[in-house]
Amino acid sequence: MTLNTPPLSPLSQAARVCVVGGGPAGLAAAEVLSAAGCAVQVVEHMPSFGRKLLMAGRGGLNISHSELPDKLLARYGTAAPWLKPALDAWTTDDIREWMSGLGQESFVGSSGRVFPTVMKASPLLRAWLERLRQQGVVLHTRVNWTGWDAAGHPVFAPAQPEGTLPASLQSPYVPDVMVLALGGASWPRLGSTGGWVPALQGQGVAVSPLAPSNCGFQVAWSPAMQERFAGTPLKPIALCFGDQTVRGEIVVTATGLEGGALYALSAALREQSAQHGSATLMLDLRPDLTEQALASRLSTVRPRESLSNRLRKALRLPPVAVALLREAGEVPTTPQALAARLKALPITLTGPQPLARAISTAGGVAQAACTPQFMLAARPGVFVAGEMLDWEAPTGGYLLHACLATGRAAAKGALQWLRDTHA
Ligand SMILES: Cc1cc2nc3c(=O)[nH]c(=O)nc-3n(C[C@H](O)[C@H](O)[C@H](O)COP(=O)(O)OP(=O)(O)OC[C@H]3O[C@@H](n4cnc5c(N)ncnc54)[C@H](O)[C@@H]3O)c2cc1C
Repeated sequence: MTLNTPPLSPLSQAARVCVVGGGPAGLAAAEVLSAAGCAVQVVEHMPSFGRKLLMAGRGGLNISHSELPDKLLARYGTAAPWLKPALDAWTTDDIREWMSGLGQESFVGSSGRVFPTVMKASPLLRAWLERLRQQGVVLHTRVNWTGWDAAGHPVFAPAQPEGTLPASLQSPYVPDVMVLALGGASWPRLGSTGGWVPALQGQGVAVSPLAPSNCGFQVAWSPAMQERFAGTPLKPIALCFGDQTVRGEIVVTATGLEGGALYALSAALREQSAQHGSATLMLDLRPDLTEQALASRLSTVRPRESLSNRLRKALRLPPVAVALLREAGEVPTTPQALAARLKALPITLTGPQPLARAISTAGGVAQAACTPQFMLAARPGVFVAGEMLDWEAPTGGYLLHACLATGRAAAKGALQWLRDTHA
């Protein structure tokens, strides 16, 4: 083994485990490992735990989805076969029961999404941390894990220059097992910065480039569009790209578009714009009406009316819709051609918004770098979990679901490895 530990006593005599990263994946791993009798320390470099989880709870903590398991699994795209055992072992019902055990009842919203009844994340996180403390987990904040030293020992340092390192983490603290759950690189001010990439690559771990997922996209708007309509929502609309159509809403920003309907297409749009420099999205401004219905409504308005008046009177379309039509080039005049344009308005996206502004991260530790139990093949005894793995999924509770599931699966893999190698 490469963690250079002295011979380990049987698992019942408390294997030493270090979990790095105090987000949902790390805390899930800590819960399983401490329940199995391990001496667990969790190391988090921010001043408090679960900052991204708390942020996710700001607009209602969508922690899972109630759709059938096969449909849920398909949301993980090409990573589905990799994640399947972890997701099968930690289902939506399991999550709801676990929440209930922490005093947080949940409900299924009209869209099938699962939320805590109180909507917020803070009561869940508080109860979870309390459970971990009761299970003997030692929780450290303001401690940074920086990689491994030449002897293969993990290196910890105070997150602030004036800070001190807890005695239990000072050299020669050499855990029997580590679980890394360091997150992606979106919203870096919440703690996940992707700073772990060089440390893992330095160990020969394959890491796919980190990229924005569930993100907005850039559009070269005219100055008039930027000035008048930045911040304006547009709903209900449908977006079409390739063979995918998503209904929902979007928001025009000064530099492009944001919004749930766009996030759902972000993986395909990101790939297309990486390959071709841009991607053309089709916007349906009235998804509830057919092209024919639009044309007949438009033909009831006098053609001499201004475009804005025609669209407002016939279709109740707001000024932002008219501006979008104009951005797309010459506006057709006949009812039929105008209706066709309103059903498929092309918008050229010049690329995703920066990763720091995305909801989540694509890329990360490659499947090929891991055993099926989420252990790094290049570093036996080191397990990985959560958003730092190379998978992505749309919003809808799938992100947190997989973070919790892989955190638990990595912990179970670690327990098995301890039993196999230290019995
Ligand atoms: C605005 C927003 C809304 C969201 N809403 C939802 C939602 O409703 N539903 C959903 O499913 N998902 C949502 N997500 C995504 C979800 O929050 C993340 O996928 C999830 O938190 C990732 O969990 P994780 O444990 O893998 O990583 P994180 O939660 O990012 O935790 C990783 C932790 O590791 C710490 N860390 C990193 N490096 C080090 C180091 N070297 N040393 C010590 N500590 C370190 C970080 O500080 C961080 O606390 C949202 C995300 C955002 C930004």
